[in-house]
Amino acid sequence: PAFASLALAPELLDNLATLEYHTMTPIQAQSLPPMLQGRDVIAQGQTGSGKTAAFGLGLLSRLKVSRFRVQSLVLCPTRELADQVAGEIRRLARGLHNVKVLTLCGGAPFGPQLGSLEHGAHIIVGTPGRVDEHLRKGSLSLVELNTLVLDEADRMLDMGFAEVLDAIVAETPEERQTLLFSATFADGVRPIAERMLRDPVSIEV
Ligand code: AMP
Repeated sequence: PAFASLALAPELLDNLATLEYHTMTPIQAQSLPPMLQGRDVIAQGQTGSGKTAAFGLGLLSRLKVSRFRVQSLVLCPTRELADQVAGEIRRLARGLHNVKVLTLCGGAPFGPQLGSLEHGAHIIVGTPGRVDEHLRKGSLSLVELNTLVLDEADRMLDMGFAEVLDAIVAETPEERQTLLFSATFADGVRPIAERMLRDPVSIEV
């Protein structure tokens, strides 16, 4: 199916055409309709499936650009993945103008991140440890978050991030939309999903 069949803002659809994204991948075709209705989604998707554009369009469709507060948080297992995800979201957001995407990853110096957070952001993409550190220090607030994405959730659990993920989720509003993507639904993913997602649509492609 074509992206044009979705109830996406014309600015997003025009930009998708510019990017030459015409046909949805299977994970996009299955996850975007429930996402756009506001449902929580748990989806099985590997790198290359188009999962980034799936959740990226989901979170961008809820974003209020005029409200300069953190409204979306994407948690990733590694800095490399976070950089890729942030790049893809920036490309997808081109039509919306002045959407600020900030990466917060461990291994990068803390000071510049503090400065960037003071300047503000709409969307944070980061690794769990560093995002949690900013929450503890009070440099990041998630009180206006509307969309939480757990990308490669199985890898984050393998890396021992379960408790940190719980601590981060505890700082987010209950009425958020939560989207969980995982290459596998291995042990551990289901319990996390049960804790963090509300009546999710489950997608296996
Ligand atoms: P991902 O699985 O999110 O890492 O995406 C894999 C690659 O496919 C990325 O380079 C995207 O830019 C590209 N891509 C995602 N969705 C589409 C689409 N519907 N049409 C064409 N390319 C796409």
